[in-house]
Amino acid sequence: MIKTDIIIIGAGPVGLFAIFEAGLMKLKCHLIDAIPQAGGQLTEIYPKKPIYDIPGYPTVLAGELIDRLMEQAAPFKPGFTLGERADTIEKQEDDSFIVTTSEGTAHHAPVVMIAGGLGSFEPRKPKIDSLPRFEKNGVEYMVKEPENFLGKKIFISGGGDSALDWAIYFAEKNVSPVGLIHRSDAFRAHKDSVEKVHQLEKEGKIEFYTHAEVVGLNGENTLESIEIKQKGKGNKTVAVDTWLPLFGLSPKLGPIGNWGLEIEKNAIKVDNTLDYQTNIPGVFAIGDVNTYPGKLKLILCGFHEATLAVQTAYKIIHPEKRFTLKYTTVQGVQGFD
Ligand SMILES: Cc1cc2nc3c(=O)[nH]c(=O)nc-3n(C[C@H](O)[C@H](O)[C@H](O)COP(=O)(O)OP(=O)(O)OC[C@H]3O[C@@H](n4cnc5c(N)ncnc54)[C@H](O)[C@@H]3O)c2cc1C
Repeated sequence: MIKTDIIIIGAGPVGLFAIFEAGLMKLKCHLIDAIPQAGGQLTEIYPKKPIYDIPGYPTVLAGELIDRLMEQAAPFKPGFTLGERADTIEKQEDDSFIVTTSEGTAHHAPVVMIAGGLGSFEPRKPKIDSLPRFEKNGVEYMVKEPENFLGKKIFISGGGDSALDWAIYFAEKNVSPVGLIHRSDAFRAHKDSVEKVHQLEKEGKIEFYTHAEVVGLNGENTLESIEIKQKGKGNKTVAVDTWLPLFGLSPKLGPIGNWGLEIEKNAIKVDNTLDYQTNIPGVFAIGDVNTYPGKLKLILCGFHEATLAVQTAYKIIHPEKRFTLKYTTVQGVQGFD
């Protein structure tokens, strides 16, 4: 059981900034995110796009803003459970909460802050009847720990950044060539990555299957081979250890929608007159995931909401103490040992 002061669901920019604001009040945070890296929409959807409306930054790349937020949060030693979706919340007799993930990891804290943005990003799955049988038995939708795949015969499907980035990574590290399967011959990924995969194909480190798709999966208990249908060439069965269908992730409010929270238009209703608390005392919702009159889905607004939410969180966690706000210019940033 992971114990902390505040469980933050969602490691997007708003969840990350909440670590800093909580840290200034000596509160410890543990973040859960369904995707294997921090950054939310900024790393998942637009890491290379410049943002122009972050105070003090005339322009900053989305990916760089996340790096900065991680750096700012680092002194407060946050914990992370990444690549796992927060599935259930259980209120305890003492009004604290246990949040359990899709992988069964349990977290315990007096306060929960939902910074879930548009919801958890769920993989877009191909339509193959036997797919569920091979999930986590040879079929993976995300690469959580790349070292686990080294030395394996890997096939990747997809034409976006994620598919090409991992194809390049494994082609450079693995012993056998990586198979790259795509429905067309035009890739949506960054130009540099497209050039790189063509280069690796020439070196014999990537095998291309364009105008192709996987139509069948075979194996006793784990995946042993995939059937590839290629336009003009018919079907071919190839031996594999791992197949990574990387067709992107789509956001879904998901299990949070069943937690007894007041939901309006796929967002969580909060009290914006005070602290962004939900209808469940001790559970807050900040950033894109919440709604209230006049709500703007902007990073800047989420930062403000996080700052106010931790004030009430402090009172819940330390009802006997009084916190006096001091400017960071006065108190500095005293991290945790
Ligand atoms: C293309 C684009 C450009 C944009 N440009 C700007 C801009 O210029 N300026 C601006 O201010 N805003 C911009 N935005 C909006 C901005 O990205 C969002 O306001 C911001 O990402 C919200 O941050 P967040 O932390 O609330 O949520 P998110 O960034 O959505 O992060 C939420 C995280 O929560 C996780 N999560 C959700 N549910 C669960 C669960 N049950 N378990 C585990 N994890 C979960 C998700 O996996 C995700 O990582 C843009 C958005 C897009 C798509």
